[in-house]
Amino acid sequence: MRLYNTLTRQVEEVRSSSDGRVTMYTCGPTVYRPVHIGNLRTFLLSDMVRRALELEGREVVQVINITDVGHMVDDSSEGALDRMELAMEDEGLGPWEIAEKYTRVFLDDADKVGLLRASEYPRATDHIAEMIEMTRTLLEKDHAYALDDGSVYYDVQSFPEYGKLSHNSLDKLQPGHRDLEADDRKRHHADFALWKRAQPSRLMKWDSPWGEGFPGWHIECSAMSVKYLGDRFDIHTGGVDLVFPHHEDEIAQSDGAVGHQVVSTWVHGGHLRVERQKMAKSTGNVYTIDDVIERGFDPLAFRLLCFQTRYRSEMNFTWDAMEVADRTVTRWRQRMAEWKEAPREVRSAEAEALDARFREAVADDLDLPRAVGVVGETVSSSIPDGEKYELLASWDAVLGLDLERMAREGFEVPGDVRALVEERDAARAARDYPRSDELRDRLGEMGWEVMDSSEGTRVRPLA
Ligand SMILES: [Zn+2]
Repeated sequence: MRLYNTLTRQVEEVRSSSDGRVTMYTCGPTVYRPVHIGNLRTFLLSDMVRRALELEGREVVQVINITDVGHMVDDSSEGALDRMELAMEDEGLGPWEIAEKYTRVFLDDADKVGLLRASEYPRATDHIAEMIEMTRTLLEKDHAYALDDGSVYYDVQSFPEYGKLSHNSLDKLQPGHRDLEADDRKRHHADFALWKRAQPSRLMKWDSPWGEGFPGWHIECSAMSVKYLGDRFDIHTGGVDLVFPHHEDEIAQSDGAVGHQVVSTWVHGGHLRVERQKMAKSTGNVYTIDDVIERGFDPLAFRLLCFQTRYRSEMNFTWDAMEVADRTVTRWRQRMAEWKEAPREVRSAEAEALDARFREAVADDLDLPRAVGVVGETVSSSIPDGEKYELLASWDAVLGLDLERMAREGFEVPGDVRALVEERDAARAARDYPRSDELRDRLGEMGWEVMDSSEGTRVRPLA
């Protein structure tokens, strides 16, 4: 399998660690609210990388962290509350309860969109000791310095490769850059916090060699990735918004602490917009997977919708496209139910060719639009039904669309359709053929194919 590596700006073969397994770390959710569909698209990327590697018969060790200690909002300004603590105020829960609640919500949402469970979900608050340890190492190696107030900062000028991931050079990072904290006491304006002094009002804080405080956000991922995957691992994924500063800072920390390159391949997913607009609370378009379900769509159809855009490109989510994806998944499942009984034959050359094309598309930097095209082509091809069934069932290991659902459970005929079927049988018994034809047309408009059998009218969903 080949993936685009943000670090080298090239599509490269994914190599395995020494024991043949592929090790992968994904920046997980900050658990103070439910994740939105844009976050889910990013998590789906790591799920797809994993499934694609597994399709090639490789074993993947996947770690997704849970950020349950606050960061981001105004950490720099005195006395400001972080996001965890703001959520706590809103919901009247303690910080640990908020984290517990939204960790559960995240795992549920991940299940709903068919994300395979990771090997580990380490929580930041369970790894404060590892973060302190790494901070101590960085101080020893002169990659960091402590301020009088008990904060510790990373010294970016001590790491000559700083900027290699985001292609930011220090002279390009002007003071006042929106991602840089302003603090006159820093040696360089791009220096970032490894450890911060806690305000007295702060609830989540820990003892450290530098006094009571809490870790910076970036050190969390360095400490946990190295702990669970070792000081050399294969793939690190995240959203494109994490390239700078989060992942740039992670490289400076991890590589600085261990003395060599830790991550081989950095993979980043593009943004998701809703009806061409940026998702924002103020616009009211921040959707969760529950919003998708409430509108009557199968959450797995959201996967198919995501597959139609290359993972590095910006995706435009629309409810119309969601509806089309939902119909497509349903239709494929219906066809699978029809093909179920067909004999499974020795594969024809045509089926082999389709299979090879599907696998090649997936392996080619996850070219899922092309892979989905091959699925569509297969469905309407003239290969025997049994072969179609086998191909789609095997591809579903990577697509994760539960394509065998109706083959397993059968499809249900809704009540209004059943009533028309009975009415048609009655019309036919009374030899009222015009009425019978009218009812056939009506059923057709409703998406049902009508077949006459010796037991009367039978229907199945139209292909
Ligand atoms: Zn991270």
